[in-house]
Parts: sequence; structure tokens; C-alpha cells
Amino acid sequence: MLSFSNIKKDYRLGSQTVQALGGVNGEIHPGEMVALCGPSGSGKSTLLNILGMLDMNYQGSAFIDGTPFPRKVKEATALRRSSLGFVFQRFNLIPVMTAIENVAYPLTLNKISTKVKKEKAEQMLAKVGLEDFLQYRPERLSGGQQQRVAIARALVHQPRLVIADEPTASLDSHSANTIIQIMKTLGHEMGTTFVIATHDPRMASQCDRHINLVDGLISSEEIQWNA
Ligand code: ADP
Ligand code: ADP
Repeated sequence: MLSFSNIKKDYRLGSQTVQALGGVNGEIHPGEMVALCGPSGSGKSTLLNILGMLDMNYQGSAFIDGTPFPRKVKEATALRRSSLGFVFQRFNLIPVMTAIENVAYPLTLNKISTKVKKEKAEQMLAKVGLEDFLQYRPERLSGGQQQRVAIARALVHQPRLVIADEPTASLDSHSANTIIQIMKTLGHEMGTTFVIATHDPRMASQCDRHINLVDGLISSEEIQWNA
């Protein structure tokens, strides 16, 4: 579903060049839940931004279902909206919108009726166990509940790929476990592929596979998770 080869990325810092990715290859299969692991500074965010089509300024090639990743902002934006979902560490919900409005938001760009958008958003919120919180704004929800809204928002348009950046890092362990189970269950049910950057051993141990980055390169050594 996703393949990338010889991905390289440098950042310029004044007169210096920092190599964030030194040539990484990988293949991610449909429906797989892959953990992207590695110490701080190893290149996880850089790779996520590239796989999430947020950064088009890199060397190497990447394909989604055989289609080359767009290199132009406009094309990337269109493909991102139709095919990708995002989950962030700090939830990133829109504060002035209710839970159902947040979840319906990715559908506002589609040509479907308001009624159908509302139904789809409601169904997704029910799937994450928040059917009683449709009209709540984020400030009235716990961190775990906000992250559940964010997952519903990431999945509502049935994206092929969901990119998650440390989705459990801001949560207590009970909420984190709930989030992990919801991602696994919905991923299987909807056939969604997940790439998840994580430091969380509970999250990593629930993934089908790990990609380990060290200094901008993929390491073949398995990390020992003491979860
Ligand atoms: P991780 O997500 O694993 O912490 P990053 O992808 O954020 O790693 O960073 C990889 C390397 O690139 C690090 O050395 C980091 O300092 C550097 N880097 C990341 N973003 C920038 C930037 N905007 N400008 C300069 N250097 C950066
Ligand atoms: P942090 O690493 O500070 O926890 P996030 O996990 O929220 O940040 O974001 C990870 C990356 O995704 C960043 O490079 C950021 O620019 C980008 N990003 C954050 N929020 C959004 C958004 N709502 N839409 C698109 N890109 C985003």
C-alpha cells in the first residue's frame, strides 16, 4: 500500500546542514499497523511529515497504492484530504467546534449533504464510545475523550492511511490503553493502514511491526520493549 525508497532529507541551519534522513526504504502492507520507533532526533517526525504528504521537499521516491507521491502542494493537499487521516499527540481539535462538528470537518470538503455528514460523524463517534458527547466542546472532554474524537475525525472519510504522531504520549495509562484498543479494532474493521510514531511500549507492542530509526537510518535491531 505504501512503499518508499532511498528517502533523504537535510535541514539547513544557517551555514550548516543537518541530515535528518540518510536514505530509508520501507514497505507497508494494507491494513498493517506499523510502529515507527527510535530516540528523539532519529528522524521520526521528518519521515512522518513526508509519508503524510506534508513535506514534499526530500530526495527519494514514495508510492501509495502504486501512485507516486505528489510533489506539488495542490496535488498533495487533494490526495491528503481524500486518502489520509492524522492523529496528533496534543489532539489538535478545533476548540470552538463541538465533538460532532470536529468529526464532520474532514467531510465538509466532500460533496455530500449536511444530513449525511452528520450521520457519518455520529456513527464514528459511536464507534469510539462517545455517542453521549456529540455536542460537547473539547474543553469539556478529558484527554482520552479528546483523543477518541480525534481518532473519529481521522477515520470519518475512510482514509487509506492514518499517520499518528505519539498518540498516547499525553494520556494516562488507562486512557492510553483505550486509545490503543480503539485504533486496533477500528483499523481491522475498516481495513485502515496505520503508521504510528511512538515511544510508548504498550503502543509499540500492540503493533504488527516496528520500523526502528537510529540517526536517520533504519536499524535492523529489534528494540527490547519491557511493556
Ligand atoms: P524525531 O521526530 O525522531 O525526534 P526529527 O525528525 O524531529 O526526529 O529530527 C531529525 C533531525 O533533524 C534532528 O537532528 C533534528 O534536530 C533535525 N531537525 C528536525 N527538524 C528540523 C528543522 N526544522 N530545522 C533544522 N533541523 C531540524
Ligand atoms: P508535536 O510534535 O509538537 O507534538 P504534532 O504532533 O501536533 O506536534 O504535529 C506533528 C507535525 O504535524 C508537525 O510537523 C506539524 O507541523 C504538523 N501538524 C500539526 N497539526 C497539524 C494539522 N492540524 N494539520 C496538518 N499538519 C499538522
